[in-house]
Amino acid sequence: MSKIILTGDRPTGRLHVGHYVGSLRRRVELQNSGEYEKIFIMIADAQALTDNADNPEKIRQNIIEVALDYLSCGLDPAKSTLFIQSQIQELAELSFYYMNLVTVSRLQRNPTVKSEIQQRNFETSIPVGFFTYPISQASDITAFKATTVPVGDDQLPMIEQCREIVRKFNAVYGETLVEPEALLPGNEACSRLPGTDGKAKMSKSLGNCIYLSDSADEVRNKIMSMFTDPNHLKITDPGSLEGNTVFTYLDAFCKPEHFERYLPEYADLDELKGHYQRGGLGDVKVKKFLNAIMQEELEPIRSRRKELEKQIPAIYEMLKKGCETARAEAAATMAEVKAAMRINYFDDAALIAEQARRYGNGTGTGEK
Ligand code: ATP
Ligand code: MG
Repeated sequence: MSKIILTGDRPTGRLHVGHYVGSLRRRVELQNSGEYEKIFIMIADAQALTDNADNPEKIRQNIIEVALDYLSCGLDPAKSTLFIQSQIQELAELSFYYMNLVTVSRLQRNPTVKSEIQQRNFETSIPVGFFTYPISQASDITAFKATTVPVGDDQLPMIEQCREIVRKFNAVYGETLVEPEALLPGNEACSRLPGTDGKAKMSKSLGNCIYLSDSADEVRNKIMSMFTDPNHLKITDPGSLEGNTVFTYLDAFCKPEHFERYLPEYADLDELKGHYQRGGLGDVKVKKFLNAIMQEELEPIRSRRKELEKQIPAIYEMLKKGCETARAEAAATMAEVKAAMRINYFDDAALIAEQARRYGNGTGTGEK
């Protein structure tokens, strides 16, 4: 079976380093590996509207921001199809049918949706569209017959829900859809990068982000005021790594060669951690090291973005082409789905012939 990737992001803001380590960096590697037959990268504007219905302008303005971030990180339209969700009407159509295969109580059990509902203070006023977005995500994935979905671990319940829908659909209507697999980053720090405030997840909606497009000064300031160990007051105090954001970021970004370049007095991250835990290593030194590493990784992204910002109309043209390619793919799947569900009346000559026979058409006994 050919390997196909589908993944994407909500255009609710510019992309941050959580997106980068959780999914984006991996996508670029997979794209360049040549192992995937097709790669679809979706800007999920319809999904973003499920909790931003009253602010469509925010979504509209952020499409280009996400596209700029994609291209700056190395997603290449010659190798990956970049498209906008709302322009593919088949995705809404698929959702309409998948809704029949999912119960309300199953949606209520989805832990990510549960915590996002809490985070957004919806209480009892949950928009139905938001509540059902895992179903819409199943449509996005299955429309492209994706086998692989590179995501952060907050998305695991969505992939599981999608797999259930696929199994149910195939059991009821016959083998049609492909069951996808989530592809998590290799390392735990990358699966759910915390915010600079130490909160569980860096998230556009929580305002605790380092954005890929932040200037060098902004990145440095955010790192220098990052949450560490609140009990590590004096350099000589022993420090804790538990919940210490700076060390979690080092787990996500640091490579062995960084020590040679920026901190040669330590052999590796374990040695640095050991010294911090024993006492005698100050937060500022660790933060400066992290800053050097992150600037090195972010600088090329920033400078590519500056160039791309001069080409806005061309980027919209690229997205438009991507939408056309994606649309053709989703339409082909939709036709298979309709045939499997027996709602392809006009394409089914056998159905019409059989009913015509039953009513005696053409035999002289039917209608005149
Ligand atoms: P929003 O707050 O609007 O939901 P978000 O910051 O959570 O935005 P999404 O667009 O929902 O971002 O997520 C896009 C992708 O990035 C998903 O695959 C998600 O798993 C991944 N991702 C988001 N935040 C993180 C993070 N902090 N660490 C690792 N991966 C992340
Ligand atoms: Mg999210």
